[in-house]
Amino acid sequence: MNAKLTILGCGSARPTFQNSPSGQVLELCDKSFLIDCGEGVQLSIARMGVRTSRLYNIFISHLHGDHCFGLIGLLSTLSMQHRLQPMHIYAHPDLERLMQPWLGYFGEEYSYDIVFHPINPRHREVIFEDRTVQVETIPLKHSVPCCGFLFSETHRVPDSMGGFVRETRKRYAYCSDTRYTESFVEQIKGVDLLYHESTFLNEHESLCKNVMHSTAAQAATVAAKAEAGQLLLGHYSARVDEHERFLHEAFPVFPRTLLAREGETIEF
Ligand SMILES: [Zn+2]
Ligand SMILES: [Zn+2]
Repeated sequence: MNAKLTILGCGSARPTFQNSPSGQVLELCDKSFLIDCGEGVQLSIARMGVRTSRLYNIFISHLHGDHCFGLIGLLSTLSMQHRLQPMHIYAHPDLERLMQPWLGYFGEEYSYDIVFHPINPRHREVIFEDRTVQVETIPLKHSVPCCGFLFSETHRVPDSMGGFVRETRKRYAYCSDTRYTESFVEQIKGVDLLYHESTFLNEHESLCKNVMHSTAAQAATVAAKAEAGQLLLGHYSARVDEHERFLHEAFPVFPRTLLAREGETIEF
C-alpha cells in the first residue's frame, strides 16, 4: 500500500496569504502522523478532510513558533469534538514546560489525555515503534535544537531459520529546519521521499548561513548524495512569491524534485 503525505502548510516563519507555516500529515500503514504544527494547521486539517480519529502521534521538530504555534488551538478543538483517545506529542522537553501553564488554564476540562514524550534532538534515536512503523530522529543544524524524523514502514517476515526478520519497505525523511549539512546523508540513504527545507534561493546563500537555513540547490545536493527516490521542497521564505524558482534551481542538481503545495497529497 502506498504512503500518503498531505501538505498542511509549507511556508516559513512569516505566514502569507499564499502559505501557512509548517505542517504535514503522513499516512503510513493505516495510521496518521502529524509532523509539525504551525499556526493554522487545524484549519488545513479541516479543509483537507484529514481524519483526526486516526491521529495519535504528533512530532515537533523544534521550538520555533512556525512549527508549534498551532498546537494549543488544535488540541482545544479536538476536545470540543469530544475526542477520547490520548494524543502523544514528541518534542524537545521545553515544549511540555511551556505548554503546561496553558493546558492547566485552558485544558483542565479536555476530554482526552495529552502525553508528552521528551526527545533529545541532538542524538539519533528511535522514539516511536509499533508493529509496522518506526520513527527515528535525524539531528539537524539549526539555530535552536532541532531534529528531523525518519519514518520507516517495517514488517516481520519469516526467515529461512524458522524465525522472523524485520523488513523495511517505505521510508520518508522529514528534514526541516537546517543549514546545509551532509551529517545525516548516511542515515537517510535511499529513502523513497525526502522533504528538505528550501527556505531560500541561490541569491540568498550568504543569508542562509546566518539564519541556519538552506537553499533549494543545497536541498537538491543532499537528495542527490542520499540517493533519494524523490525530493520535496518547502518552508518557502515569504520574500519569494514564485515557488517555481525553487524548482528551477533544484532541478539541475536533482531532477526528481517536487514542490510542496498546500492541500496536495503526494503518494509514494
Ligand atoms: Zn521554520
Ligand atoms: Zn526554525
